[in-house]
This record gives sequence, C-alpha cells and structure tokens, in this order.
Amino acid sequence: MNPDSTIVTDVVCPLCGSLCDDITVRIENGKIVEVRDACDMGESKILGHDRIKSPMIREKGELKEVSYEKAVKKSAEILAKSKRPLLYGWSSTTCEAHEKGIKLAAEVGGIVDNTATVCHGPSVIAIQTVGLPSCTLGQIKNRADLIVYWGSNQSQAHPRHMSRYSSFIRGFFREEGRKAKYVVVIDVRDTTTTNVADEFIKVEPGHDYKLLSALRAVLADKADVLPDDVGGVPKDAIMNLAERMKKAEFGVIFFGMGLTQSRSRYNNVVNAIALTRELNQFTKFVIMPMRGHYNVTGFGQVLTWETGYPYAVDLSRGYAWYNPGETTSTDVLNRGECDSALIIASDPGAHFPGKSLKHLSKIPVIQVDPYHNPTTEFADVVIPSAVAGIEAEGCAYRMDNVPIMVRKLIDSEYKSDEEIIDDVLNKVMEIRGGK
Ligand code: SF4
Repeated sequence: MNPDSTIVTDVVCPLCGSLCDDITVRIENGKIVEVRDACDMGESKILGHDRIKSPMIREKGELKEVSYEKAVKKSAEILAKSKRPLLYGWSSTTCEAHEKGIKLAAEVGGIVDNTATVCHGPSVIAIQTVGLPSCTLGQIKNRADLIVYWGSNQSQAHPRHMSRYSSFIRGFFREEGRKAKYVVVIDVRDTTTTNVADEFIKVEPGHDYKLLSALRAVLADKADVLPDDVGGVPKDAIMNLAERMKKAEFGVIFFGMGLTQSRSRYNNVVNAIALTRELNQFTKFVIMPMRGHYNVTGFGQVLTWETGYPYAVDLSRGYAWYNPGETTSTDVLNRGECDSALIIASDPGAHFPGKSLKHLSKIPVIQVDPYHNPTTEFADVVIPSAVAGIEAEGCAYRMDNVPIMVRKLIDSEYKSDEEIIDDVLNKVMEIRGGK
C-alpha cells in the first residue's frame, strides 16, 4: 500500500436515505481512490464524477465561466428583484445549509420547497394528519420477524437497506438473520426485490387503497364482506397475510412511491398507517416511508422547526403559509407564478413534469450543485459546490429521523452549500440596503 495512503473508517454515505455509516475509504494525495462496503451508487458518488468545474453565467444562450463573486452577485440580483422566487431542492445537502436557505427565502419572500413535493409529500401530509407509529432502523434490525415492502423496490433504490437494517441482517433477537424473517413484497410488478421475498403479492395498479382496506376488514372480523378478489389479489391471499401479520412478533411495513404517487396518494398512506395502528391490537407493528435523497428527511425537520411546516412553505406574506396543491413547487410553476428559481442539491430537470419545466425554462434559474445534471441545461447561473458529506461536514437525518453527522473527508476548491447560500444572502441584503 502507498505509504501516503490514509484509511478512513465509519464514513457515512451521502446518497440515499439509508445513510450507511460503515463505509471505508482510502485517500491518497487528497483524493479518494478506493471505497469499500458501499453499494455501486454510493461508491460512484464518493469517488466523484462529472463535476461542474467553474461558476458560469449564461450569455446569448451559452454558459460562460465567470468568477465566484460575479456568479454570487448575479444570483443575488435575480433573487432581490424577484416578486415570487422559488427556492427548491435541499435534499442532498446538510441541515446547516437548509437553515441558511430558509433565511434566504424569508429575506426574498420566496416559496421554499424540497424534493418531497414529487416523492413522499403525500406521506408527509398523511403523517401530519394521523401521526406515524414508527421506530428506528436499529429496532427493526434487532426485532423484526415480518417485513413488508409495499410499493418500494429496495434493492434498486436503497441497495444496502436489506443487508443493513431489514431482511438479511442478524439482530439481537434475530440471530439467524434472513432465516428468522418472513419477507413479503406487495407491488404492481415483479422487481429485483420480489426475487428475494418469501411471498410476492401482485396488486393491480391504483388498487392499493382497496387492498389496505380489505386487510383492515379482515382484522375487524369482517372478512365476509370481501369479494373473491380485491385489486387482483385473491381473498385467500389477503386472509393469509392478515393472519401472518397478526401472528408476527414484530412487523414492519416499508412503503415507497408505489403508494405515495399512485391513485389515492396520501389517503393510501393514511390507510396504511390505520392498518398498522390496528395491528397493534394484536402484536407490535410499525411503518416507515422509504425516503430517497439522503437528507430529504432533514429538510422536513429543519423547515418544521423554523416555520412550523415540513415542505412547500410560502414566505411571501411575511409569515409561513402552507397549502400543498397551492404552494407546492410544481403547482406554483404550472400556474406560471414564479419569476425566478434557485435550485440546490436536486435535479428538477430530470424529475418535474413537462409543464413545470416549461415555466422554469422561461425564468432566470440559479443552480447550486457539485454535478452537471439536466437542470444545468437551462440554468442561467451555475455555482459549483463542495460535496456535502465528502468535502463538507454537517448534519443529515436518516429515513427513520435519526440525525447523523456526515464528515468532511477531503479538501475542496469549492465552497460548501452553506457558505454559498450565506454569501448570496449577504449580497441580497447589501443590494436591498439591509432591509
Ligand atoms: S444503500 Fe444508500 S446510503 Fe447505503 S451505500 Fe448505497 S447509496 Fe449509500
């Protein structure tokens, strides 16, 4: 081994909501040259790829390299003169950057929103409405003997989740690991997760709500009201699953966008939470959303403690106004209301509906991100940042709401998101004469 190598252990992977904190990296000459124990996605991010090299401003349709100061000034000018700016993203950066971003949104009277708006926003609404009987991933690892993945393809979206927290891991009360657990996948199609399940229940698209209600009917001793088939699932399979759920010692439902972004949306989640609650009359059962970006959960936390609401907050009135459907970023864009946007640590260019993107392409867009992505293609100001969790430290919240510090492993020529947003905020205040 190179004598100049440094081995760093217990590194946290800043990619998905699993926030695996057992990664080892080897650093040589200030660069990460080897990553051990991460999945392919995590390894690729930690090793680094496709970085934006320099701040840029678009002139006559072309992005031209400029100084950092010029890019910050231009960003501040755009935001300072906007009547209704959108400050969107935040899910792949630290809570410290979130706090600065919310201050900036308050200063410019903007709408501040995160990626939950196009993934687990319905979960957030459901949880606000009826609460969440949940626990930590550590409890699931040590205790769960029945694991249900509903509308989520763990093996693709969170590749190490099953081996670190759920299906495969040995736990204090589950020493036999996978053998001690029964794994059920409920989904509209075969996925790579169904391949490792004990049972796959295929539900017709858009019929999850009915299937959840059918399970609740069985728990309530009302199985006689069920038809022979609910959403493509035979009554026998529903009866067997309900019985298995009742008999488990500790059961968990992990749910994904198959529930949140299909017909009934947040009502699917309300129904799944109600099922979980009712199962607790028989045994211990918990439920957990499979959050995607590594700190989307953290943004919900920070925005809630700053404004009282977890996403889609409009600060243009001088106080926090929250009304998903009205203040969610895709809706605001669809109505053509925003006159500028700051996009940070996210990629709406790849994930927003066409109508929202059409409006984004017409207004000045500022992008703060370490990486090129489809949003770069229409951004008017681009500011490269240090990669949080690799080149900058800070706090992130795992999908089970456990805060974990992500570390700075190597130096960077770029400023952190927190520093960039602070510089833009100071410049906005300077332009507005400290108002
Ligand atoms: S599962 Fe997620 S957090 Fe863990 S190594 Fe893979 S991408 Fe990183």
